[in-house]
Amino acid sequence: MSRRPDWLRPYRTLLAHYGPQHWWPGETPFEVMVGAVLTQNTAWSNVEKAIANLRRARALSCGAILKRSETELAQLIRPAGYFNVKARRLKHLCAFLEAQGVARQPERLRDTGTLAELRHRLLAVHGVGEETADSILLYALNLPSFVVDAYTRRIFGRLGLIAGDETYHRIQAAFEAALPREVALYNEYHALIVQLGKSACRPRPRCGECPLRRFCPGRL
Ligand code: SF4
Repeated sequence: MSRRPDWLRPYRTLLAHYGPQHWWPGETPFEVMVGAVLTQNTAWSNVEKAIANLRRARALSCGAILKRSETELAQLIRPAGYFNVKARRLKHLCAFLEAQGVARQPERLRDTGTLAELRHRLLAVHGVGEETADSILLYALNLPSFVVDAYTRRIFGRLGLIAGDETYHRIQAAFEAALPREVALYNEYHALIVQLGKSACRPRPRCGECPLRRFCPGRL
Protein backbone atom coordinates (compact mmCIF):
# COMPACT_ATOMS: atom_id res chain seq x y z
CA MET A 1 0.00 0.00 0.00
CA SER A 2 1.49 3.37 -0.98
CA ARG A 3 1.73 6.04 1.71
CA ARG A 4 0.37 9.53 1.07
CA PRO A 5 3.18 12.04 0.76
CA ASP A 6 3.68 14.09 3.91
CA TRP A 7 3.73 17.77 2.85
CA LEU A 8 4.45 18.85 6.41
CA ARG A 9 7.66 16.87 6.71
CA PRO A 10 9.76 19.34 4.68
CA TYR A 11 8.25 22.17 6.73
CA ARG A 12 9.09 20.62 10.09
CA THR A 13 12.59 19.75 8.93
CA LEU A 14 13.28 23.21 7.49
CA LEU A 15 11.90 24.96 10.57
CA ALA A 16 14.04 22.81 12.88
CA HIS A 17 17.10 23.55 10.74
CA TYR A 18 16.73 27.24 9.88
CA GLY A 19 14.37 28.44 12.64
CA PRO A 20 11.58 31.01 12.16
CA GLN A 21 12.22 33.46 9.31
CA HIS A 22 10.09 36.35 10.70
CA TRP A 23 8.54 37.28 7.37
CA TRP A 24 7.52 39.60 5.83
CA PRO A 25 10.37 42.07 6.40
CA GLY A 26 8.13 45.16 6.21
CA GLU A 27 7.00 47.55 8.91
CA THR A 28 3.39 48.09 7.79
CA PRO A 29 0.89 46.25 5.58
CA PHE A 30 1.31 48.98 2.95
CA GLU A 31 5.08 48.54 2.99
CA VAL A 32 4.53 44.81 2.47
CA MET A 33 2.32 45.55 -0.54
CA VAL A 34 4.93 47.89 -2.00
CA GLY A 35 7.63 45.28 -1.35
CA ALA A 36 5.55 42.60 -3.09
CA VAL A 37 5.55 44.72 -6.28
CA LEU A 38 9.18 45.82 -6.02
CA THR A 39 10.53 42.31 -5.39
CA GLN A 40 9.41 41.06 -8.82
CA ASN A 41 12.57 39.83 -10.61
CA THR A 42 15.04 41.25 -8.12
CA ALA A 43 16.81 40.40 -4.88
CA TRP A 44 15.33 41.59 -1.61
CA SER A 45 18.43 43.65 -0.79
CA ASN A 46 17.60 45.89 -3.79
CA VAL A 47 14.02 46.25 -2.61
CA GLU A 48 15.24 47.41 0.81
CA LYS A 49 17.23 50.21 -0.83
CA ALA A 50 14.22 51.29 -2.91
CA ILE A 51 11.94 51.27 0.13
CA ALA A 52 14.50 53.25 2.13
CA ASN A 53 14.52 55.87 -0.66
CA LEU A 54 10.72 56.07 -0.60
CA ARG A 55 10.75 56.46 3.17
CA ARG A 56 13.44 59.15 3.09
CA ALA A 57 11.45 61.06 0.45
CA ARG A 58 8.25 60.69 2.52
CA ALA A 59 6.74 58.78 -0.37
CA LEU A 60 5.85 55.57 1.43
CA SER A 61 2.10 56.02 1.50
CA CYS A 62 -0.67 55.55 -1.00
CA GLY A 63 -1.43 59.27 -1.19
CA ALA A 64 2.22 60.24 -1.63
CA ILE A 65 2.76 57.68 -4.40
CA LEU A 66 -0.31 58.90 -6.25
CA LYS A 67 0.88 62.50 -6.01
CA ARG A 68 4.40 61.85 -7.31
CA SER A 69 5.04 61.77 -11.02
CA GLU A 70 5.91 58.40 -12.49
CA THR A 71 9.38 59.72 -13.39
CA GLU A 72 10.02 60.90 -9.83
CA LEU A 73 8.82 57.62 -8.40
CA ALA A 74 10.95 55.65 -10.85
CA GLN A 75 14.07 57.49 -9.68
CA LEU A 76 13.30 56.70 -6.05
CA ILE A 77 12.81 52.98 -6.69
CA ARG A 78 15.69 52.73 -9.15
CA PRO A 79 17.66 50.21 -7.01
CA ALA A 80 14.82 47.66 -7.42
CA GLY A 81 15.38 47.41 -11.20
CA TYR A 82 12.72 47.68 -13.95
CA PHE A 83 12.01 50.97 -12.21
CA ASN A 84 9.83 52.55 -14.91
CA VAL A 85 7.59 49.49 -15.06
CA LYS A 86 7.48 49.15 -11.29
CA ALA A 87 6.70 52.86 -10.78
CA ARG A 88 3.68 52.41 -13.02
CA ARG A 89 2.69 49.25 -11.16
CA LEU A 90 2.92 50.99 -7.79
CA LYS A 91 0.69 53.76 -9.06
CA HIS A 92 -1.85 51.23 -10.32
CA LEU A 93 -1.82 49.44 -6.97
CA CYS A 94 -2.34 52.72 -5.09
CA ALA A 95 -5.11 53.80 -7.46
CA PHE A 96 -6.77 50.46 -6.78
CA LEU A 97 -6.50 50.93 -3.00
CA GLU A 98 -7.94 54.42 -3.34
CA ALA A 99 -10.82 53.13 -5.46
CA GLN A 100 -11.53 50.51 -2.79
CA GLY A 101 -11.75 53.32 -0.21
CA VAL A 102 -8.76 52.04 1.83
CA ALA A 103 -5.95 54.37 0.71
CA ARG A 104 -5.35 55.67 4.25
CA GLN A 105 -5.52 52.20 5.84
CA PRO A 106 -4.64 49.66 3.13
CA GLU A 107 -4.89 46.79 5.64
CA ARG A 108 -8.64 47.43 5.68
CA LEU A 109 -8.80 45.96 2.19
CA ARG A 110 -9.18 42.70 4.09
CA ASP A 111 -12.63 43.80 5.32
CA THR A 112 -13.99 44.46 1.84
CA GLY A 113 -14.56 40.92 0.61
CA THR A 114 -13.82 37.23 0.86
CA LEU A 115 -10.35 35.92 0.12
CA ALA A 116 -11.50 34.73 -3.31
CA GLU A 117 -13.04 38.14 -4.11
CA LEU A 118 -9.96 40.04 -2.96
CA ARG A 119 -7.67 37.77 -4.96
CA HIS A 120 -9.82 38.27 -8.05
CA ARG A 121 -9.75 42.06 -7.62
CA LEU A 122 -6.00 42.16 -6.99
CA LEU A 123 -5.34 40.08 -10.10
CA ALA A 124 -7.23 42.67 -12.13
CA VAL A 125 -4.72 45.37 -11.09
CA HIS A 126 -2.14 46.07 -13.78
CA GLY A 127 1.15 44.37 -12.93
CA VAL A 128 -0.21 42.17 -10.13
CA GLY A 129 0.27 38.52 -10.98
CA GLU A 130 -0.57 35.49 -8.89
CA GLU A 131 2.60 35.46 -6.78
CA THR A 132 2.28 39.19 -6.02
CA ALA A 133 -1.44 38.89 -5.23
CA ASP A 134 -0.86 35.96 -2.88
CA SER A 135 2.07 37.72 -1.20
CA ILE A 136 -0.22 40.70 -0.52
CA LEU A 137 -3.05 38.46 0.72
CA LEU A 138 -0.82 36.39 2.98
CA TYR A 139 1.79 38.83 4.25
CA ALA A 140 -0.06 42.17 4.19
CA LEU A 141 -3.61 41.02 4.93
CA ASN A 142 -2.97 37.84 6.93
CA LEU A 143 -5.22 35.71 4.76
CA PRO A 144 -4.48 32.03 4.02
CA SER A 145 -3.34 32.11 0.39
CA PHE A 146 -0.27 29.96 -0.22
CA VAL A 147 2.47 31.70 -2.23
CA VAL A 148 4.08 29.72 -5.05
CA ASP A 149 7.34 30.87 -6.61
CA ALA A 150 10.22 29.51 -8.66
CA TYR A 151 11.87 28.10 -5.51
CA THR A 152 8.70 26.18 -4.69
CA ARG A 153 8.62 24.63 -8.16
CA ARG A 154 12.27 23.66 -8.06
CA ILE A 155 12.38 22.25 -4.54
CA PHE A 156 9.10 20.38 -4.58
CA GLY A 157 9.82 19.06 -8.07
CA ARG A 158 13.09 17.64 -6.78
CA LEU A 159 11.30 16.26 -3.72
CA GLY A 160 8.93 14.46 -6.10
CA LEU A 161 5.79 16.06 -4.66
CA ILE A 162 5.02 17.93 -7.90
CA ALA A 163 6.24 17.68 -11.49
CA GLY A 164 7.28 21.34 -11.42
CA ASP A 165 5.65 22.41 -14.67
CA GLU A 166 2.07 22.53 -13.40
CA THR A 167 0.13 25.79 -13.46
CA TYR A 168 0.49 28.12 -10.50
CA HIS A 169 -3.08 27.30 -9.50
CA ARG A 170 -2.49 23.53 -9.43
CA ILE A 171 0.59 23.82 -7.26
CA GLN A 172 -1.13 26.21 -4.89
CA ALA A 173 -4.18 23.91 -4.72
CA ALA A 174 -1.94 20.92 -3.94
CA PHE A 175 -0.32 22.76 -1.00
CA GLU A 176 -3.60 24.08 0.29
CA ALA A 177 -5.25 20.64 0.10
CA ALA A 178 -2.36 19.00 1.95
CA LEU A 179 -1.80 21.57 4.70
CA PRO A 180 -3.94 22.88 7.55
CA ARG A 181 -5.44 26.21 6.50
CA GLU A 182 -3.32 28.37 8.80
CA VAL A 183 -1.89 31.79 8.00
CA ALA A 184 1.11 31.31 10.31
CA LEU A 185 1.98 28.00 8.66
CA TYR A 186 1.66 29.37 5.09
CA ASN A 187 3.71 32.40 6.11
CA GLU A 188 6.56 30.40 7.60
CA TYR A 189 6.52 27.61 5.01
CA HIS A 190 7.00 29.96 2.06
CA ALA A 191 9.74 31.87 3.88
CA LEU A 192 11.57 28.60 4.63
CA ILE A 193 11.23 27.49 1.00
CA VAL A 194 12.88 30.74 -0.10
CA GLN A 195 15.65 30.23 2.45
CA LEU A 196 16.33 26.71 1.17
CA GLY A 197 16.14 27.82 -2.46
CA LYS A 198 18.70 30.56 -1.86
CA SER A 199 21.10 28.44 0.19
CA ALA A 200 21.14 24.71 -0.65
CA CYS A 201 18.56 23.94 -3.34
CA ARG A 202 20.04 26.26 -5.94
CA PRO A 203 19.94 25.60 -9.69
CA ARG A 204 23.08 23.50 -9.01
CA PRO A 205 21.99 21.96 -5.72
CA ARG A 206 24.29 21.71 -2.73
CA CYS A 207 22.67 18.57 -1.39
CA GLY A 208 25.45 17.93 1.13
CA GLU A 209 24.31 20.95 3.12
CA CYS A 210 20.55 20.43 2.66
CA PRO A 211 18.38 19.52 5.66
CA LEU A 212 15.97 17.61 3.34
CA ARG A 213 18.59 15.30 1.81
CA ARG A 214 17.56 12.24 3.87
CA PHE A 215 14.23 11.98 2.11
CA CYS A 216 14.84 13.80 -1.19
CA PRO A 217 14.70 11.50 -4.25
CA GLY A 218 16.31 14.26 -6.35
CA ARG A 219 19.46 14.60 -4.21
CA LEU A 220 22.83 14.41 -5.87
S1 SF4 B 1 18.57 17.24 -1.27
FE1 SF4 B 1 19.38 18.49 -2.96
S2 SF4 B 1 17.82 18.42 -4.60
FE2 SF4 B 1 16.88 17.70 -2.67
S3 SF4 B 1 15.91 19.53 -1.80
FE3 SF4 B 1 17.95 19.36 -0.90
S4 SF4 B 1 19.32 20.60 -2.22
FE4 SF4 B 1 17.40 20.25 -3.33
